Amino acid sequence: MTFSLMPLPFAKDALAPHMSEQTLDFHHGKHHKTYVDTLNKLIEGTPYEKAGLENIIKESHKNQDQTKIFNNAGQVWNHNFFWNCLSPKGGKPDSTVVQQIDKAFGNLSDFKTEFKKAATEQFGSGWAWLVLDEQGKLKITKTGNAENPLVQGQKALLTCDVWEHAYYLDYQNRRADMVQVFLDNLINWEFVAQNMDQTQARSAA
Ligand code: MN
Repeated sequence: MTFSLMPLPFAKDALAPHMSEQTLDFHHGKHHKTYVDTLNKLIEGTPYEKAGLENIIKESHKNQDQTKIFNNAGQVWNHNFFWNCLSPKGGKPDSTVVQQIDKAFGNLSDFKTEFKKAATEQFGSGWAWLVLDEQGKLKITKTGNAENPLVQGQKALLTCDVWEHAYYLDYQNRRADMVQVFLDNLINWEFVAQNMDQTQARSAA
């Protein structure tokens, strides 16, 4: 399968001033695009040519000689997921999401504190996540580089990209400021709610 760059699910200037058009130009148009192009080159002529993205991620993760494929496939998936986590209408989650967050973390404010801690303590490049863990509990995690919950048997519900390329143009070295703005203004809570719903539907089936 040849992969293509997922279009942004919002206008490129829609997240300003929290995330500028210039940041999205580079982050989506150059960084994300390079992961897609590199992945397509790496899988050419291999059995992965016919595989779906999630299968490529899971399989290449098991093989130490396929780190390049894993890194690029992981980064394609992580960015697709990240763009869906962002919305110009970010702000407050609806009551069903709030209930789940309260149950797992106490309240929304404590959730934000814990998420921000994971995002700022991730040393170097990586991602902060809200996941459903192997026991079906909401949990905050962080991963390095292209690693993601798919290879840990967890379901991703929300992520924040904490690679420097995600914030350097708008926030320079102030990762914590970017994460706070993400939590307060940019989260697509409807997408988080959909991910939670799918999970409930699956466990009820
Ligand atoms: Mn990125």
